[in-house]
Amino acid sequence: MTTTTADTAQALNTGLPTQSIDSGRVAALVTQLLIELGEDPTRAGLTDTPNRVAAWWQAFLSPDKSAVATCFPESQLSGQLVIVGGMSVWSLCEHHMLPMNLQVTAGYVPDGEVVGLSKFGRIAQHFAGRLQVQERFTQQFAEHLTGLIGREDVAVAVRGLHLCMSMRGVRMEEARTTTVHTGGRFASDPVLTQQFLTLAAVQQHTA
Ligand SMILES: [Zn+2]
Repeated sequence: MTTTTADTAQALNTGLPTQSIDSGRVAALVTQLLIELGEDPTRAGLTDTPNRVAAWWQAFLSPDKSAVATCFPESQLSGQLVIVGGMSVWSLCEHHMLPMNLQVTAGYVPDGEVVGLSKFGRIAQHFAGRLQVQERFTQQFAEHLTGLIGREDVAVAVRGLHLCMSMRGVRMEEARTTTVHTGGRFASDPVLTQQFLTLAAVQQHTA
């Protein structure tokens, strides 16, 4: 990989609410929630809980804004299928505000330049740090990668474990949800699509 200069860099489009969190207010609301749930927020185990919860929300909703994905010129690699897997991020389901673990595999076909490998995980982290649904996460990740490489030849597969399925309602602890986005050649070339899906399945079962 040529690592001369960051020739192409694209700042992450956050799509997040711009207003910052009032941590004191969030902590006060958590105290109120504890009371409503029949707890005594002054008991020893709970005294710092509202502040901890507020700090956690602050961190969760403030992904690294300096995360910039970089492309490197690499003419020799054009046409080769690149797959990056084994990325695991935690997000929060927006329907229940319960955690979901997303295992992400991304593929693209370089044409003159390659994306810095370490950036894929940061992109995943970025779009996970908000109230989400797996389908939208998959779409946002794919759109961001598409914008980054400037072409539609992008595929993204996400395998999700949703605690809202595992610990409430039907309690299907082994249930996993898979979402797949394919664009450009990945959508039109069945061989390429199959290659990606096969490799994604291997990556996600060993991750
Ligand atoms: Zn849910």
